[in-house]
Amino acid sequence: MGSVQIVTTILAAAITAVAVWLAVRAVLKMVAVIRLGQPAPERFTDKAARARTMLVETAGHTRMLKWGVVGAAHWFVMVGFVVLSLLVLEAYFEVVTPTGGLPIIGHWTIFGLATEIITVLGLVGILVLMVIRLRNRPTRPGGRSRFTGSTMWQGYFVEWIVLLVLIFGLVIRGFKVATDHFEYPLWATPVSHAVGAVLPDWSDGASVAALIKIAISMTWLIVISLNVTMGVAWHRFLAFPNIFFKREPARPAGSGLGALRPMTSQGKPLDFEEADPEKDQFGVAHVEQFSWKGLLDFSTCTECGRCQSQCPAWNTGKPLSPKLLVLSLRDHAYAKAPYLLAGGGKDLTGEEKATQAQLAHLDVLSLAEGDKPLIGDAESGGVIDPDVLWSCTTCGACVEQCPVDIEHVDHIVDMRRYQVLIESSFPSEAGVMLRNLENKGNPWGAPQNTREDWTKGLDFEVPRVGEVDDFEYLFWVGCAGAFEDRAKKTTRAVATLLNEAGVKFAILGEDETCSGDPARRIGNEFVFQMLAQQNVETLNEAFEGREKAKRKIVATCPHCFNTLGNEYGQLGGEFEVVHHTQLLAHLVATGKLTPVQPVDGGVTYHDPCYLGRHNRIFAAPREVLGDAIAGDLTEMPRNSERSFCCGAGGARMWMEEKIGKRINVDRVEEAMATGAKTVAVGCPFCSTMLNDGVNGKGAGEQVEVIDVASVLLRSVKPEQPQGGRETAPVGG
Ligand code: SF4
Ligand code: SF4
Repeated sequence: MGSVQIVTTILAAAITAVAVWLAVRAVLKMVAVIRLGQPAPERFTDKAARARTMLVETAGHTRMLKWGVVGAAHWFVMVGFVVLSLLVLEAYFEVVTPTGGLPIIGHWTIFGLATEIITVLGLVGILVLMVIRLRNRPTRPGGRSRFTGSTMWQGYFVEWIVLLVLIFGLVIRGFKVATDHFEYPLWATPVSHAVGAVLPDWSDGASVAALIKIAISMTWLIVISLNVTMGVAWHRFLAFPNIFFKREPARPAGSGLGALRPMTSQGKPLDFEEADPEKDQFGVAHVEQFSWKGLLDFSTCTECGRCQSQCPAWNTGKPLSPKLLVLSLRDHAYAKAPYLLAGGGKDLTGEEKATQAQLAHLDVLSLAEGDKPLIGDAESGGVIDPDVLWSCTTCGACVEQCPVDIEHVDHIVDMRRYQVLIESSFPSEAGVMLRNLENKGNPWGAPQNTREDWTKGLDFEVPRVGEVDDFEYLFWVGCAGAFEDRAKKTTRAVATLLNEAGVKFAILGEDETCSGDPARRIGNEFVFQMLAQQNVETLNEAFEGREKAKRKIVATCPHCFNTLGNEYGQLGGEFEVVHHTQLLAHLVATGKLTPVQPVDGGVTYHDPCYLGRHNRIFAAPREVLGDAIAGDLTEMPRNSERSFCCGAGGARMWMEEKIGKRINVDRVEEAMATGAKTVAVGCPFCSTMLNDGVNGKGAGEQVEVIDVASVLLRSVKPEQPQGGRETAPVGG
């Protein structure tokens, strides 16, 4: 070993020892913080499916590849990181001797070829990502950036490190070529040979370059170890467990979509008949009341801003960005951790758990962080502003986009639950809706005995369950479908089409109450459970003696569809629920309904969040429209998975939209820009919001917002009186 190698070896060992020590300390700290969360035993089920999903999502980059170029570039960088770690290891042999290499595989030409290819593709990938980050930097003139609010130096730092590590990998090889100590042939390593052609014949070059490569890699490790909230770097390790422990691994995409998580205390679903707010956790009031998976979610965020770029609240000037929300919770959790780890925290009655002696050694910043309210405005020093919390429509665009499967909607609703159930703190205008749900069983407060009024004037009988027992489908009408004028037209259209197709169906009539969706999304789990239990009982009675496959329900409202199909199972109600567009598509496909007169004038379709993103039903409504309209459907730029919310979900239908641009107006402008005369919808709330938007723009005469079922009815029974345009006033 020459004198240069003695120096390079000592320096490499020293910096590595420091980096590894700091990294071990950082990992222990991160684990300690994540362990502060509540238990989540359901995350340990079905390990085979979890492992499968994790491998598919990471190795296949299935979620990242939704963003074509970025996804592909990131894939090469990821593969580069994993495979080229071997070359960092090899550098430790090269600091000792410039001709050194990995034992065994380091002599294989195939290894030389594979690492050469991955180095080059990794270089291209990282340069693409660097250009994309620079072109989208928040400070660039004009335009909005998904990186607004991200810690930009961290992104740049990580990218430069990757770039330099890749470059120095080639430089090491280049020196080996230049000194004639390179084992791989030209055909397998042309780039290394090209680099070698311009480097001097310096015998210690490979050792010095290897030291620089190690120093760059260890600098990265030291910096990220000193910054445990640096998700842009840590996600390389945390993404794997975060995806493994996602809520429903078997769900094809967006597993944090569809059903909400039940309310839990100590990891067990809360039973309101026995629950006690002094003993049980009601929602989330403090960051440590999220489950450990919640804290892992916050730690894993890469600050990529994909969620932010799709969020309807953020895009219309509201203070909510799902990314910034996650980052605020992450930073708060890590800043509060010393206080919590010292034994601090509030018990369920609000009393401090720690003794003064336990907290005596803490610095003032940790103590101050421990005192911060989780929800509170700037004046009260809250971590999350109430305007942020209540701006969410639970549309799921953030969950859908997140490459590391963060479950934003669950976290938002958990925080809402505490605010509603314990603090009674929520937008006051929603109070009327909640009172109506409790007292009248519907958000409008309409008399229950008018639930069947929509059947008046139909030229056939609509039977109630109990009057017939051979019905195939129970037609779940929903509150909007029963009480809201515009939605009643959809209900009548669906009933008429089912009757026309000879489908045997029956309704619950006055036995139906609200599914509970608005109560659950606003955070009032108590009212949700009250309504849901009542409905589950009624439905179980209606289907008594039938196996699950024959407990078929058709619903026109995607919110009811989602709640009945995905959430009633949590309360013992197992049903086969279809949306009316699915059933209608089936009836047309099997010849039971025949469109005879195409509807013309241009049609576009707005995907309701709870039908599309939350339940992956994109094709059925388009199939129905494809059969019923003249020409092709005109798609809006934001459609299917990337559809833009109408603004009504998450109980926002019942809250005023006081900040920023109205979400429905943004969506209507997009729909009108297609030139279509008809905007087809599949949800009564979307219908209300978009009609409202069209009327607000004074375009009610030129553009019609109408349900897919009504479009089909016009095509199947053109002679049928249609009851005029669906432009009734909002509400009922
Ligand atoms: S659910 Fe929708 S509105 Fe709520 S944070 Fe996510 S993207 Fe924004
Ligand atoms: S999409 Fe996921 S990883 Fe990216 S910023 Fe949003 S929460 Fe973080």
